[in-house]
Formats: sequence, C-alpha cells, structure tokens
Amino acid sequence: MIKNRTRGQGKELLGLPRQVLRLVVGVLTGHTQLNRHLCITGVVTNPFCEQCGEAIESAMHYLRYCSSFSSIRRAIWGKDILYPLILKQYLLEG
Ligand SMILES: [Zn+2]
Repeated sequence: MIKNRTRGQGKELLGLPRQVLRLVVGVLTGHTQLNRHLCITGVVTNPFCEQCGEAIESAMHYLRYCSSFSSIRRAIWGKDILYPLILKQYLLEG
C-alpha cells in the first residue's frame, strides 16, 4: 500500500504508541476489528458496514468511501471521497 518506504518512516512507525501502531498495522494488513475481517475469521456473518450498510466494512471503505465519514474526509483532505490516486498522493507526501 505504501510504496517507496524509507528507513525513517519505519523508525517513525516503530516510535508510535503501541495502540496507534496496532491501528496502523491493522489498516495496512486488513487485520482489524471491522466486519470484513471478522466475517473471514467467522466471528460475524454480515461483512457489511455498520455505519452506512452500503459496502463491505473494511479499513479502506472507512478511509476512502464510507458516506458516514465524508464530512471528516472533507474537513481533513477537502474531499468527500478519497479515490486511490488521491490517497496515494497523500501517503507518498506524508
Ligand atoms: Zn460505510
């Protein structure tokens, strides 16, 4: 997901508080407490988003598309939806 990683970015990640690092790793790997992963592991039977019900609940759905979080994306990035190229631009610049 994040290409052109640098050693400094790795050190920055390892310096994060444990709970924050766990969230970052969950977003990057898809191993989260969201319904997509919980459905794969058999914990729940419905993989759809509990916020909007419009799509499978995953980290990428929350980050890019979920209509329930569009106002937060607009406040942070000035966009209601983060299409892959826009998200890639922010990740590489960060
Ligand atoms: Zn949603």
